[in-house]
Parts: sequence; structure tokens; C-alpha cells
Amino acid sequence: MAQSDTKKIFFENLSGAGKAIAVLTSGGDAQGMNAAVRAVVRMGLYVGAKVYFICEGYQGMVDGGENITEATWESVSSMLQVGGTVIGSARCKDFRTHEGRLKAALNLVKLGITNLCVIGGDGSLTGANLFREEWSGLLAELVEQGSIEDQSVQNYSALHIVGMVGSIDNDFCGTDMTIGTDSALHRIIEVVDAIMTTAQSHQRTFVLEVMGRHCGYLALVSALACGADWVLIPEMPPEDGWEEKMCQKLSANRAGMKRLNIIIVAEGAIDRNNKPITTDCIKDLVVKCLGFDTRVTILGHVQRGGTPSAFDRILASRMGVEAVLALLETTANTPACVVSLSGNQSVRLPLMECVQMTQEVQKAMDEKKFEEAVKLRGRSFENNLRTYKLLAHRKPESELPTSNFNVAVLNVGAPAAGMNAAVRSAVRVGISEGHKMFAVNDGFEGFYKGQIKEIKWSDVGGWTGQGGSLLGTKRTLPAKHVDKIAEQMRTHNINALLVIGGFETCDRIKQSASGTKRRVFIIETMGGYCGYLATVAGLAAGADAAYIYEEPFDIRDLQANVEHLTEKMKTSIQRGLVLRNENSNENYTTDFIYQLYTEEGKGVFDCRKNVLGHMQQGGAPSPFDRNFGTKISAKAMQWVTKKLLETFRQGRVFANTEDSCCLLGMRRRALIFQPVVQLKGETDFVHRIPKEQWWLKLRPLMKILAKYKTSYDVSDSGQLEHVVHNRPKDSDASVAM
Ligand code: ADP
Repeated sequence: MAQSDTKKIFFENLSGAGKAIAVLTSGGDAQGMNAAVRAVVRMGLYVGAKVYFICEGYQGMVDGGENITEATWESVSSMLQVGGTVIGSARCKDFRTHEGRLKAALNLVKLGITNLCVIGGDGSLTGANLFREEWSGLLAELVEQGSIEDQSVQNYSALHIVGMVGSIDNDFCGTDMTIGTDSALHRIIEVVDAIMTTAQSHQRTFVLEVMGRHCGYLALVSALACGADWVLIPEMPPEDGWEEKMCQKLSANRAGMKRLNIIIVAEGAIDRNNKPITTDCIKDLVVKCLGFDTRVTILGHVQRGGTPSAFDRILASRMGVEAVLALLETTANTPACVVSLSGNQSVRLPLMECVQMTQEVQKAMDEKKFEEAVKLRGRSFENNLRTYKLLAHRKPESELPTSNFNVAVLNVGAPAAGMNAAVRSAVRVGISEGHKMFAVNDGFEGFYKGQIKEIKWSDVGGWTGQGGSLLGTKRTLPAKHVDKIAEQMRTHNINALLVIGGFETCDRIKQSASGTKRRVFIIETMGGYCGYLATVAGLAAGADAAYIYEEPFDIRDLQANVEHLTEKMKTSIQRGLVLRNENSNENYTTDFIYQLYTEEGKGVFDCRKNVLGHMQQGGAPSPFDRNFGTKISAKAMQWVTKKLLETFRQGRVFANTEDSCCLLGMRRRALIFQPVVQLKGETDFVHRIPKEQWWLKLRPLMKILAKYKTSYDVSDSGQLEHVVHNRPKDSDASVAM
């Protein structure tokens, strides 16, 4: 592929030659674990290490034998899209005993394994840390027993451990998102969406139990993503007398033309006296007090099932690569670490500090210190809770402030999943801040034509889950009609404008190539000149190449790819996937590439092409898009209020400074407001993309995992970050939802 990469650091000091790394999955399974295993194996092999699978978690390590096998490049093929864990997971009593760990140590030493990558929850990681601490003692014991030679103790003196958190509950402190959480949210939201469609026909109340015995994350975030009427989580039990309040809320919502109520309950929901609140007791309550037709649905293992989401695949792939780097850089004195994602960056955190903090949350809940429990969960969790309360519970008219400001909301550009969630959030937050909210239909085109009217709290009910743009959107630019738009703004006395658009969010690309043989799929993705979708989908789907505009390619690159695919067909992986962004190159079109590959691959492989087109903008928004839209929009609206108050003088709003017009977006680990004039210099207007694209650094990862010789800019990888206690769990802006 493009030669420019070779300028970057080429693992100068990071050779894995002579090292052996073992990878295992332990505890409850989670979607995305396989992507992590695949990344560890391929990155390990890439740096020249030997890599071993340990099957069946710690049990396999204790039992040894066939449970520990050497991994090859091909052995992790077709794993990326599979749910659960292919190498098996287990709970293991033996590993909790000294004897068990002694056996495990012997099995590792026999194969020269001194690097262990554990994918599991806090229990598994605690076990791993203990094992590491005991390591030299265990080896001494093995020498004493005569099971190993003295020399082995010297050769394998230290055990290096790195952890990756695989847990659908997102219950681990220090990480924004654990592997499997996003997929579990997908499953929950699929169920809620399905229930909503059937339940619209009847007037019903649904009580839905989701997983999370000790952590309310799934319940809270799914409640945000579907606009549930009520949510119960262990970290923040409802105030005494909640039963009555909840029933009032349900009947008020019914009166507001809502035909359906949804109550989401975390498995571990409790009241203020730590007494469990069960779905059945909620049902009985609703039936008794309101007489509503009420049904209980317990999601159970469905949440662990299905294919991992694109987000989990990418998260796990990045973490797997980072884990190998962490192992290579570890010395006997570095504490064991977990790799995770903070904002958009890989970070390494001290394992035991995270485990301890995770345990402190439980302690706080046991001691009924609920405020503290929420705080310990981190800023993103607090923000979720705040946003949920703000949007789900409408304050009575008498309690609302009156700002006398009018704010209009509109959608522009292509419709994108999550836009409606953003509008709902803006409207409701705006109303809560006392503004009169206006909705503009059909973007700037509708605006200059006068398609604008007031929008109320209940008008946006149920909008979170809807695809497309309910306000309507157009690509028309405002420049030609500025005067008419200004006139509309005067007529309606609009003081501020919230423009939602230009997102090209879409994590819905999937491919179903497995099962076929000797075939190369060439898929064209959208994005204008922006290669984000092609690149990230490439990483999520394990593509062989992703051609984009930002990274110019020529005939030599195409040839190299054909040769790569030809080689690949000789192995057991007889499938290829090539992604091409729609505007990646004027002449090397999707048809051209298809024809070139068909010709060059004759007798070796055949080709199929597929232009994804508008289906990429369609469908229901993912939980991530719903919540990202909701939270970013709430933040934008609060900022608008602040600016309006700051610039209001003598009955007028002065919008004449640089920051009168800002773009809110995520930069590294923070959500920041950037004056649009400042962004001018950073934007390539011809191609409608930023001049600098952060995600380009993900491209080498995709290539490494597809077996290309390339280099990887290690500056992306996280140095060990300390003091978890002083660091908020994650930034406001985190990718966490
Ligand atoms: P999770 O990793 O999902 O939290 P568990 O707590 O069940 O799941 O832990 C998985 C396995 O990790 C256990 O079955 C056990 O083998 C090992 N393990 C957990 N805690 C410890 C510990 N304190 N000491 C040794 N091994 C442990």
C-alpha cells in the first residue's frame, strides 16, 4: 500500500522475537472477545513472537495439554464477526487455589510462555495479577519439586500480564467502554424497538429487565436510547415514595397521547434500603395502581448473543494490538496494566488500581452511599444519568424559568442516523432552560421559504429511535438566500440557531462473505471524499484493503493487493474483502477495480462488487448514535443558553464575536466548541473534509491485521496513565455513551 507509512516508527525497539505470548478469555463471554483474540494473535505474529491460545480460560491453563496450542495467522480467520468466544471461557475453581496456579505455572514454563494476555472481567484480572505476583515463588516451588530446572527460573524469571476488559456490563472503572457493552446495547435496543412496534397497537406498559447485577450502565444507557419512562439502577435507587411518583409519571405520559410505557430495570436494581426491586413487583404495582395492561420481558442471555457490533470489533482490535505493544514494553518493574480506550485514544491503566476502584463502587452501594457510587462510576455515567433525568422528566410549567429567548433547530446535509435523537434532546433541553423552541423543516431551503414553527416537548416524543431526519433535510447551502433567512429570523425573533448535520455516522456496514470460497468482494462505501467509513468498516470487517481519497494509491498498490489476494487464496482463508470509498479516485473506479481484479485473479479467485449506496444512511440509529446525538445536542443547547445570557444587553443579543458561531465536536478526549472561522483554515472545502483526519492512524492497524508489511505509528498507543483516583473515569466526550 502507500509508501508514506514507512516514514513512521517501525517498531525499532519492539521486537517480539524469542518471546511467547499466550491469550485467554475468562469469566462471562462477551461479543468482541474474538476480535481481541485475533488482534493479539496477528499483532504478536507480526512482531515476531510465538503466540499460544489457552482454551477454556484458566481451566485450560491449569489442565494444560491440548488446551494450550500454538496459534497461526490463519487460525484466527473468520473470527472477527463471531459472537462469544471461540477459544472458550470458563469459571475455574482450581485457579483460585495455590495448587491450581502451580500447575498453571508449570504448563506455561514448559512452553516458555512469560507473557499473558487475559480478556475477562475484574475477577479474571484479579486472578491474573495474583498469579503474576506469585510467579517467582511458584517457579521456586517447581524447582524444589524437581518439575523444572534451575535454568528455567532464570530464563522465565518474570511473568508479564496485560488485561483487556471483556464484560457486557461496562462495570470496570478506568475504561470508557468494555468489550461487549456496545453489542449488548444493540441487542437491548433491537428488543425495545420490536416491542414498540407491536405495542403501539395496544396500550401497554412494558417492564424490561436487562443485565447488570451490580452495574446499571446497560439499563441507564438503553433507557436514554429509547426514551424510557422510568429506569431503575443499583447505583441510584429511587427516593422513598417512588412508587407513587412512577405511577403519576406513567399516567401523565398516557394522557399526553403516548400509547406505550417502558420501564427498564437493571437486574441488580435496589431500593434505598438495599432491598431488590424486581420486575414482578413493578408489574403488580402498575396493575394495582393504574390498572394498565402490563407485561414483563426478561432479556437474559439474548444480550450476550449475536454478532459483535462494529464498535466492539474496532475497540477489541485496537485493544488487542495495544495489549501486545504493552507486553513488549513491560519490564519486571512495571505494574500489570489493562489497556482501554479513553475518548478516541488507547491508554494503559494500572490493573489493580482499576480493580480496587471497581470494588469500591460495590462497597459504596453496600454502605448506601449512592451519590458516591455514581461518582465512582465516572463522569460519563453521571452525565448519562443527568441527561436521562433532564429529557425524561418534564418539569411542570410553573417550575420552568422563562428566558424570553427563541431558538430554532434545523437539520442540514444528508440524513444521518441519530439526527432525530439530537433534535429531541435540543428541543427538550431548550424548553427546560425556558426558551421557546422552533423547528425548521427541510434545512436552509425550508428556512428561507418560511417553513418554521414552534415545537413542543411532546412533539418529539419517541424520536430517539427513528432513522433519517423527521424535520426533513436538504443539501441546499444558505449563502444564496441569506437575506430571506435573515428575514425569517427577524419575523420569528430567533435569537439562536442550532444546526444539526454533516455527521456521516454510520456503523451499519456489514458483509456476509463467509461461507464462499475463492471470492473477493469489492464494496463501495459512501462518505464523499472522506474515507472514514471505508477505513473503519475495513477494520471492523477485517478487509484486505480500503482505498480512500486521503491516502493516494496507484497501480502499484492495486497490483500489490492483487498479489496479496492471490497468496491468500493459497492459504485456508479463501476470501477477500476490498473497500473503496466512492470518491477515492476519479479513474480507478469501483468498476475498474472490479474488472482489473477479475482479470488478474482469473483461475485463482473471482470477484463480486456491491455499491452500498443509500442503505448506509438508512435504518434505525444504533444505540451509540442515539446517545451521542442526544448528549452532544444537550451540551450544545446548554452552551447556547450560556452564550445568549452572556451577550444579552439592552434587550438585544449581540452575536458579533468569533464564538458566536461554533461547531461542537470531539477532539481527542474532549468535546469542544470551536469557532467556525477558526475551522476555515483546517477545512478542505473543495472535498468537504478536514485537512487533518485523526482516524488515518487507524489504517496501519487494518493493514497489519490483514498481513501487510507496514509500519505503525506507536504514538497512538498509550503510555501508562497513573492515578486513576485523581482522573475522572473518562472525559465527558468519551466514546462511552
Ligand atoms: P469475571 O472475570 O467476569 O469477573 P469471575 O469473577 O467469575 O468473572 O472470574 C473468572 C475466573 O477468574 C474465576 O473462575 C477464577 O478462575 C478466576 N479468579 C477470579 N478471582 C480470582 C482470585 N481472587 N484469585 C484467583 N483467581 C480468580
